[in-house]
Amino acid sequence: MVLGFGAVAGAFQATGGNTQVQHVIHISVDGLGGTYLEQYISESPAEFPNFLRLATEGSATFNARCDFDLSVTEPNHTCMLTGRPALQQPRSATAPAPHGLYINYDPGPPFTLHSIGNPQIPYKSSVFDVVHDRGYSTAFYAGKQKFDLIIRSYSELHGAPDTIGENNGTDKIDVHEVIDWEGPDLVIDNIPKLVDKMLGRLVSTPPTYTFLHFANPDIAGHFYNWGSTLYRDAVKAADFEIGRILAAIAGSSALANRTAIVLTSDHGGGAPINGHSLAHARLVFTVPLILWGPGVPGGVELHDLFSNRFNPGPLYLDYNAPRQPLRNGDSGNLALAMLGLPSVPGSIILPEFKSGLHILRSASGLMLRWPMGDDSLRLETILDLTTGTWQPVTEGVLSESGWTQYRVEPQDPRRWFRLSNSSPAEGQ
Ligand SMILES: [Zn+2]
Repeated sequence: MVLGFGAVAGAFQATGGNTQVQHVIHISVDGLGGTYLEQYISESPAEFPNFLRLATEGSATFNARCDFDLSVTEPNHTCMLTGRPALQQPRSATAPAPHGLYINYDPGPPFTLHSIGNPQIPYKSSVFDVVHDRGYSTAFYAGKQKFDLIIRSYSELHGAPDTIGENNGTDKIDVHEVIDWEGPDLVIDNIPKLVDKMLGRLVSTPPTYTFLHFANPDIAGHFYNWGSTLYRDAVKAADFEIGRILAAIAGSSALANRTAIVLTSDHGGGAPINGHSLAHARLVFTVPLILWGPGVPGGVELHDLFSNRFNPGPLYLDYNAPRQPLRNGDSGNLALAMLGLPSVPGSIILPEFKSGLHILRSASGLMLRWPMGDDSLRLETILDLTTGTWQPVTEGVLSESGWTQYRVEPQDPRRWFRLSNSSPAEGQ
């Protein structure tokens, strides 16, 4: 049995010359229901080539969840950025957990997430804090003016002091841009403008962490209902913009093989008609969550990558359920994990990768490593997936500081590796 990734298709392809993830683009496609996206991709893959590409080259689920209590935009984006539930205090949490923001608009200055959210948490740390406090750059692009609330909350005036290493200041978001929609047609025009801005920065001085929000398909859903032809067109428009982002990554040597994408949505919709306020409705609470980038296995159901996440089927689960689903609230900490950074302080929505194979890339080659201590695991390699046989790797496998590891030298022709727990005799 291959651990974690179950199939040969899920083995890591170790292409040479890469380095680890240095840039993450965290995308939220507003109102993109997982049920709709899954249907569109399976029925008309040619019309949604870029969502399809993310899901086949990366790991995806169309059955993640939004927040349990609230299925609206501002609270769910706050979940994504803080790793906290909106309102529920899980029984297992030892400290105040929910961010507490329940309104879905920006009340304007001087209010912030800190002042109007859960008063037991005077400062609600975010992905921006974790990245910026370590001296890395951040950017935020959104298609609804109400996101000014988030920008203000992590601004020079309201951001927390940086107590980690060198002082990078209280202004946690280096670059931000909001281009609001002005009507169901103009929202379509505004998304390319927003992506233009985002790509301009990404290609010239790529931020370590970029958050990008598309206002559609939510707007189309409100005007024409979820699942309508115009809603579907809005999902296609998002697909087109994702294609531009993927092309920009591929076309830049600074970005290619060093950039990961984490894509999700704040909520689905269609319950009630033209809306998404019914948090217990399956069409509303079901959202996609896609992870794409170097080191991410292709074509795997995303839940399978985690030891503490389980595909919920049709269930509507709160934060006390013993088997937690992936949620959009996992996406911020996933972005940080891809960058090799710690999770958001105080966050309790914490996905844990299965103890599978990790790849560290550097100019001197690749280091494959997995947690030490499980003697039943062995590294195997194959030259050609279509004709070869998996062979054990025995020489050069070393254990130190909690890890068992193996270095793949740059000139090594072997490109496919997997961890297996079958005994050496079994495969013969
Ligand atoms: Zn909406």
